[in-house]
Amino acid sequence: MLQSKLFAPTLRETPAEAEIVSHQLMLRAGMIRKSAAGMYTYLPLAWRVLRKIMQIVREEMDREGGQELALPIVQPAELWKESGRWDVYGDEMFRLEDRHHRQFCLGPTHEEIITTTVKNEVRSYRDLPLRLYQIQNKYRDEIRPRFGLMRGREFIMKDLYSFDVDEAGLEDSYQAMYRAYNNIFKRCGLKFRPVEADSGAIGGNASQEFMVLAEAGEAVILYCDQCDYAANAEKAVSQVQVSDFNGAVKEKELVATPGHKTIDEVCRFLNIQAEQTVKTLFYGTGSGYIAVLIQGNDQVNEIKLGNVTNSKKLYLVSPEEIHEVLGLPVGYVGPIGLDGQIKILGDNRVANLHQVVVGANQEDYHYLQVEPVRDFVGVDYYDLRMAASGEQCPRCSGHLHDLRGIEVGQIFKLGTKYSKALSANFLDEKGQSRLMVMGCYGVGVSRTMAAAIEQNYDGNGIKWPIAIAPFQVHLITVSPEQLPVAKEIYENLSRQNIEVLLDDRDERPGVKFKDADLMGIPIRITVGPKGLAQGEAEVKFRATGNEERWPLDQIVAKTREYIEKCEQ
Ligand SMILES: [Zn+2]
Repeated sequence: MLQSKLFAPTLRETPAEAEIVSHQLMLRAGMIRKSAAGMYTYLPLAWRVLRKIMQIVREEMDREGGQELALPIVQPAELWKESGRWDVYGDEMFRLEDRHHRQFCLGPTHEEIITTTVKNEVRSYRDLPLRLYQIQNKYRDEIRPRFGLMRGREFIMKDLYSFDVDEAGLEDSYQAMYRAYNNIFKRCGLKFRPVEADSGAIGGNASQEFMVLAEAGEAVILYCDQCDYAANAEKAVSQVQVSDFNGAVKEKELVATPGHKTIDEVCRFLNIQAEQTVKTLFYGTGSGYIAVLIQGNDQVNEIKLGNVTNSKKLYLVSPEEIHEVLGLPVGYVGPIGLDGQIKILGDNRVANLHQVVVGANQEDYHYLQVEPVRDFVGVDYYDLRMAASGEQCPRCSGHLHDLRGIEVGQIFKLGTKYSKALSANFLDEKGQSRLMVMGCYGVGVSRTMAAAIEQNYDGNGIKWPIAIAPFQVHLITVSPEQLPVAKEIYENLSRQNIEVLLDDRDERPGVKFKDADLMGIPIRITVGPKGLAQGEAEVKFRATGNEERWPLDQIVAKTREYIEKCEQ
């Protein structure tokens, strides 16, 4: 490709609307343009990258028995009503009506339509398993689309759905996708980590996320320094510290703490640490209130709490609201005496504490020397806290550390959630009707492109991993005199299927180099008068900044060699 013909309108300035690096660089490098909030046009450079990612995804899906198909983007409301998700999905779903007032949506995901397609055609266990996938635009009406392609309202996804005869079959499909996803992100040249994840709104009972490691990542990952345990912070657990308390158990004691309401104030007043207190927080569940007990220095993990209470609409209730509802004094609430008034859940750690301080449910009073197991009545204990860096791994004696990541893929075991709702049955060997056992597996294709940039850039621009770079070689001439030689190199490389962008523009070398750094093509070959005098070209690798000189007649061989080395 000649750069003079390439439609890649670069920008000198960083657009103010772009908050994160990948968004800024894609706008500046002429890869994308915004059409509406969270919706983008992919210009040729971006599309070349996306096609490469899609090709890698296809090859890995096909290798594991996937069959590609294409489902409609516009989906009838009836299917979503049948699965019960038409109402649950809420405002994130783009809904529309046709001229006959029939309701449709723009597919945010495709479980309903694929399950219906399969159930209409599959009768027998002999037709299973099936692994069907597509690569297509998805739509989610995010309340606040931001971060460019990271959280758009239209985005490209690969979604595969597996249909098996039983749990063992699902396990095979799940493991196949786990292998495929590791291969995909490895082949894309990315540093990533599979982590345990919460299966959230999609449902099901096992899930892993694939995280591209990057500072700008929205997700926090906790991983063990000794074993392969790694989990999204939403899901992560750490070992409950067994108390080494061996002092004498005392009677609880009511103590005046006038005007001291917050954990900080109470700790200062009583000269104790936050871990010697138990906080009582209140949550609304949509169908009432619950009290949650947690150690004073811990944070409630609302995802875990939502799973335990089976509530998707949890919200923290203010002390003032609780005062109105239950008559409890603001700043002095505690679990003692709450039993019977409200459902009480406690974090596992609380049950291990001794001699703690809690509110006494009387204005200006706290209790000291409280023994949770002895003094708290009617409490159900679960893991409800956020695990944190530095704590002990749940599986071994190692410790947890944190990293930030960008979620680019997720694999789920759905089980029979959708086959049940949509009656996707088959006849087994004995002629018995059974539900298909399903899994679903997504790769955020456009997000992977953005994540690749978040992981690979510097102050001058992008540093593409070669496997997904828009071109492999950026060929630059210092002045128009070298164009005939450059064109010969260009032809030689192109004949070997090496993708070359030849900067044939009549620009100063400085401008060309600046654009080259911004676009981030991995191998930059410069043909200039000095090198030519010695029969050489200057080569600079974008990833490392290393420079070499290659004899003109070895350019093709050395380029090949470099590409092959990167692919290993
Ligand atoms: Zn471990």
